[in-house]
Amino acid sequence: MEEEVKETKPLNFLEKIIEDDLAAGRVPNNTIVTRFPPEPNGYLHIGHIKSICINFGLAEKYKGRCHLRLDDTNPAKEDMEYINSIKEDIKWLGFDWGKHEYYASDYYDQLYEIALDLIRKGKAYVDSLTPEEMKEYRGTLTEPGKNSPDRDRPIEENMDLFLRMKNGEFPEGKYTLRAKIDMASPNINLRDPALYRIKFAEHPRTGNKWCIYPMYDFTHPISDAIEGITHSICTLEFEDHRPAYDWATSIDNIDHTPHQYEFARLNINYCLMSKRKLLYLVNNKFVTGWDDPRMPTISGIRRRGYSPESMKDFISRVGVAKVEGVVDYSLMEFCVREDLNKRAKRLMAVLDPIKLIIDNYPEDKVEYFKAENNPEDPNSGTHDVAFTKELYIEKEDFMEIPVKGYHRLYPGNEIRLKYAYYVKATTVDKDENGNIVAVHCTYDPESRGGTTPDGRKVKGTSHWVSADHVLEAEVRQYDKLFKAENPGGATGNYLDDLNPDSLIVIPKAYIELEGKKSRPGEYLQFIRNGYYCVDNKDSTDDHMVFNRTVTLKDSWSKMKAKMGL
Ligand code: ATP
Ligand code: MG
Repeated sequence: MEEEVKETKPLNFLEKIIEDDLAAGRVPNNTIVTRFPPEPNGYLHIGHIKSICINFGLAEKYKGRCHLRLDDTNPAKEDMEYINSIKEDIKWLGFDWGKHEYYASDYYDQLYEIALDLIRKGKAYVDSLTPEEMKEYRGTLTEPGKNSPDRDRPIEENMDLFLRMKNGEFPEGKYTLRAKIDMASPNINLRDPALYRIKFAEHPRTGNKWCIYPMYDFTHPISDAIEGITHSICTLEFEDHRPAYDWATSIDNIDHTPHQYEFARLNINYCLMSKRKLLYLVNNKFVTGWDDPRMPTISGIRRRGYSPESMKDFISRVGVAKVEGVVDYSLMEFCVREDLNKRAKRLMAVLDPIKLIIDNYPEDKVEYFKAENNPEDPNSGTHDVAFTKELYIEKEDFMEIPVKGYHRLYPGNEIRLKYAYYVKATTVDKDENGNIVAVHCTYDPESRGGTTPDGRKVKGTSHWVSADHVLEAEVRQYDKLFKAENPGGATGNYLDDLNPDSLIVIPKAYIELEGKKSRPGEYLQFIRNGYYCVDNKDSTDDHMVFNRTVTLKDSWSKMKAKMGL
């Protein structure tokens, strides 16, 4: 008999709510319906991954469905480019909304009818207060608001003005349609919230059909209701808007009642997660675009070489709660390394080269060694790597005069060249300035494959690349975009905290020829150097470009620990 696999992880608060609702029969058709509702005014960032994983994840777990709703109510800031990127990013994470792709703009006609009905019933009015006056009348957290002089405008007049607003007869800001709720409510969001404003802007989907646009607090709950959303899950900053949400979903003509639940947004140190600030970095060329591999956007981390699986793991480790906090960047990188370690193809690449000449190796000989594709995965196989008389090794793997404890190559010392032979350094060639241009060594033909008949041991193993069977490529060494944990925290300006070393370009690195086969989307490890990927934008067959995804070890945290931070 097969044993049922029991889940051991405790339920998070949203799962509890959903399980209670299902058990109590409170969910229509017993089918939970969630939605992910991005505003297409920028590219999605890592914070959004949390919301995507929660909404799509709950739908998957409880066999319901999750809608993708583009919340396109601010035509001035929205763009098709953003819509397309959002869809691509969600798919990359492995989620699928199926046929449930909706737009708030799909509901403009319905929202307009609902607004007319509210006017007819005396529940909404056209206000002529300017935005400044409206703010003044709204009151504060401790003081109630005041009624607008227009609050008791007769219904016919409201109707006439609203129709004329819609017909484009008034300039922006002249009138607003407001709900008539309660100017003395302790919740500011219930003090006659605006429902519609005038805006002359071309909408990416409705073009110039409308010059009045519905506000978020009106559009969002009604869109949820129209789509039959059961659990409308958003971040904590919307908690104060919940009464407005409940007001909108209890309007007469709405027959499905969704409920809103809030969770804590994801914040990560060293990162900015605000589309507005990210847009600023893009527009002012601090980065090359939304998909710059240093950006905390989904398209940025994809280009950097993060895997969707590692990000889902990260989100699951962070968990779902109602308490705001800041997650450590190193936790995210830890998850990336964990995943890539299992799947990245190993290659040898020399990033900072020095030539190694094996004096006793035949001039024209080429030998091929089997290199493991991934020692963590026994099924990953091997590939051939060419070995010749002249090789490159990393500069730091040789010292003419070794410091104490240095076990790599130095004159008289023997090391192993990975997969190949033992070599012992002899002399160096120098240029007229005294810089070492080549290291000479001899090899032991009996050490083929890395062991010798006499069983002698060496302490160092270096990776290497044949100097004439080699791929020359550009390597981009990426690091954190910001050097401060809380960008802008000290000076108030996050630009002050940009990391000047966030990108170091190596124009010519030497990579074993197998690297030529790599394609964007493939996970690579340059052994001893880090995880890498082929850049999905700038790499061509003639000029390959590799991006550093993440270093092998967390040097940052180690450095911090050393400095006692
Ligand atoms: P930003 O503040 O970066 O502009 P936003 O909240 O305006 O983001 P939306 O497009 O409105 O972006 O967000 C879509 C959904 O993603 C919303 O439900 C929002 O609550 C959620 N979300 C946005 N940022 C985060 C975050 N840092 N952590 C978790 N969820 C987030
Ligand atoms: Mg928003």
